[in-house]
Amino acid sequence: MKISTIGRRLHLLNARLGINHAAPAELARTKKEINILTALPQVWAGQRSYKPEYPDEHLQGGLVSRESIIERYDTFLFDVFGTLISDAGPIPGANNFLKEAMANGKNVLLVTNVSKSSAEENFKELVKAGIKVDPQQVITAGQLFKYAAAENGLIGQPVLHIGNDSSRSYLEQAGLLPVEAENLDATADLRAVVVAALQSSSDPKALEDKVTKHLKSNKYIIPVILINPDKYVPKDNAARPIRAYELAANIARNTRQRFLFVGKPMSYMYTEALKRLSEMDKEPGRVLCVGDTLSTDIKGANEFGFDSLLLLTGTERLRFTFAYQLARAMKKTDAFPTWVLSGL
Ligand SMILES: [Mg+2]
Repeated sequence: MKISTIGRRLHLLNARLGINHAAPAELARTKKEINILTALPQVWAGQRSYKPEYPDEHLQGGLVSRESIIERYDTFLFDVFGTLISDAGPIPGANNFLKEAMANGKNVLLVTNVSKSSAEENFKELVKAGIKVDPQQVITAGQLFKYAAAENGLIGQPVLHIGNDSSRSYLEQAGLLPVEAENLDATADLRAVVVAALQSSSDPKALEDKVTKHLKSNKYIIPVILINPDKYVPKDNAARPIRAYELAANIARNTRQRFLFVGKPMSYMYTEALKRLSEMDKEPGRVLCVGDTLSTDIKGANEFGFDSLLLLTGTERLRFTFAYQLARAMKKTDAFPTWVLSGL
């Protein structure tokens, strides 16, 4: 008897006995989660082509080959850093997967949390890694800021801007009035703090103290908006904390403000991906989000209702030494990928 049938019967029996139980959809999700968690050590150990032994769809979670992944889906939303490229260059297999998917007529979009707005700015790195896509196929968190600005009533309003020329220009394009931290004075009537990036020359602790003091002394109740919600970046073979995340999180915590994100896992990215596809006259069909980070790539896909593939080529593999630590992180983040592969 299939496990799914047993589950259903158990569910009916529980219902008859009046036992408080999970709804069928929740049962299915739990079963998927259990299968991912069971398969994880094998994937972690690099047995990525392990063939599914069970006919039941849920039992295949985590155990799949790259060929069947390409076959199963119509649209791939690919993360960039830790998935396609790292600071050491292209990640083996990823570009071939991309080419194969496109050669098979599949839709491919790159969805990256970088705070730059222009796809061309990211292109230098992609081109260097031999990845050939059109600018139209790339969506950055910076490009999505305009949606968060409109939603939070910031058009035409002054906001504190922590970033660079690129982020300043998309704040202005979205119709905001950016105020730089060095020009902060008591008369500025701020409506939000927008953290896009930290210049390498800036001192995050001094900036944090200055902004915290300003917000507290003016009794502001305004959101702190972070463009790129990634907490870590894969660098020099380790997962390094991102300073912009820490700065924005500290300011929001110190001053008890709402802390908002723009990039993945927020829905702006996925809505924009569907919009891009429709502009290209393409149907999304079955969508798979591919990425290396639980809290952004996988969490966002889970919340939007897309399937997801976690690759152990970036952040999570560098953050953890053992498979059980990743399993614990999945439970803690409540982010469960449909599939896990050690690489492509
Ligand atoms: Mg990544």
